[in-house]
Amino acid sequence: MFGPHKSDPIATRTLRRPARREYGTVKGDICVLGAGISGISAALEAAKLGRRVVLVDGSPSLGGQAINSIIGTLIGLYSHGEKPCQITHGIADELVNEMTAAGDMLRRQGGGAGTVTYQYDEVKLARWMERKVEAAGIQTLLGAVLTGVEFSDRRVRNVDFATRFGPVRVRANGFVDSSGDASLCYEAGLPVREPEEPIYGTLNFLIENYDPVAVKDLSMQEIHKLLLSAGPKYGLTRHDGHLMPFTGKGIMLANIGHFETPLDPLAAAQMVFKGRQEADNVLRFLQGELPAIFKNARIRAYGNPGIRQSRWICSRRQLTLDAIRKGERPMDAVARCAWWVELHNTIELVHWERFPENHVYYIPLGCMVPDGADNIIAAGRCVDGDTHALSAIRVMGPCIAMGAAAAHALNLLGDGSLHSLDLARLQKALYDNLDRAD
Ligand SMILES: Cc1cc2nc3c(=O)[nH]c(=O)nc-3n(C[C@H](O)[C@H](O)[C@H](O)COP(=O)(O)OP(=O)(O)OC[C@H]3O[C@@H](n4cnc5c(N)ncnc54)[C@H](O)[C@@H]3O)c2cc1C
Repeated sequence: MFGPHKSDPIATRTLRRPARREYGTVKGDICVLGAGISGISAALEAAKLGRRVVLVDGSPSLGGQAINSIIGTLIGLYSHGEKPCQITHGIADELVNEMTAAGDMLRRQGGGAGTVTYQYDEVKLARWMERKVEAAGIQTLLGAVLTGVEFSDRRVRNVDFATRFGPVRVRANGFVDSSGDASLCYEAGLPVREPEEPIYGTLNFLIENYDPVAVKDLSMQEIHKLLLSAGPKYGLTRHDGHLMPFTGKGIMLANIGHFETPLDPLAAAQMVFKGRQEADNVLRFLQGELPAIFKNARIRAYGNPGIRQSRWICSRRQLTLDAIRKGERPMDAVARCAWWVELHNTIELVHWERFPENHVYYIPLGCMVPDGADNIIAAGRCVDGDTHALSAIRVMGPCIAMGAAAAHALNLLGDGSLHSLDLARLQKALYDNLDRAD
């Protein structure tokens, strides 16, 4: 009457791994390696252009650092000043409008320079990305770590991945390296750059159960002073950083520590322990120094280690600090930016260089295309800049713009080379991110 009884046996079968391991092959027009914010932008834009997209990530979920490192704030979508202008559109428009309407994103405008930032709920942003990727019909491989690249005659032919469920090969005409660490270019045997000195990362985390009334008196200037005077007592070395309560949610984002982020398998695991220990130290510091607000506070979630600048491509046209200071528009401009130099190169403090109001500068296509390849384009924090320029363009607004540029560039690729695209056509397609002013 109620169907099969629970004690009925379930049939099983016995099997062994086949002697020869066959690759499952997935085909598309464009393969995007890395589903952080730049890869998500590239994949959604390419799908909108009618391209068959394969999106691959080593993590078991989408979102890269934007989600899994709980970055929490989207910056760099606007110019700075009394009348900020939105300089990046594409997926940013839908993302901001839909998340804001749902109460999952808060626009903040302030600071001396009239900076516009968007604080977001990372759980909701993750679902937003998943829904959009699914609706766009993008073939998605998660938990798939790059193991090899077949590269010949300046073109990537196949890219191989290991998954828990067997190896997978992806074939496509064009590839986006949005891995953050230039993994695709590195595995293809192309030259890449790494900084000679550490550029520090941070493990962001969420605090809950702080006093909702006393928190109104939270002053970052006071915290910075306390970090300088009392931080060492709690094992803290960084003197700046942010604490950002999400109004109405009872959650506060903390971005306070600094640790090295080497590209080494064992050292990468140590980052997790070191970053979490540092987060625990920050909580002890807050409880000890600001008990009125934090006496009963707890850590609700630790993000994955946040990596700022690790390894990036070698292009023909590295973006330089001088170029972003001057703000001249190169012939091959594909994105606009306004975020400042924000280089985390000392353990104690961030090096900032703020530009005048309304200053914008440009990302050239040339710094996104590795010198030795015709069908790979980088997007996000692994494009080619000097350390200072990269520290400015690695934030999420420009990452979205670079993702869009990568999709449109590959859309025009055909059998040709990314080094000889029809720039007028490309820039026309990218009008919103280059010239729109509303
Ligand atoms: C602590 C911290 C705070 C920050 N604060 C802000 C902020 O407030 N606002 C802001 O806008 N920006 C901020 N940034 C910068 C910004 O978050 C990142 O630069 C941006 O998210 C990078 O996006 P991405 O898509 O280029 O790379 P990532 O988000 O790093 O994504 C890369 C993806 O590639 C995958 N991948 C890499 N290698 C492989 C491989 N071999 N095989 C398979 N998959 C692979 C990874 O799993 C990952 O999901 C911050 C960064 C850090 C670290």
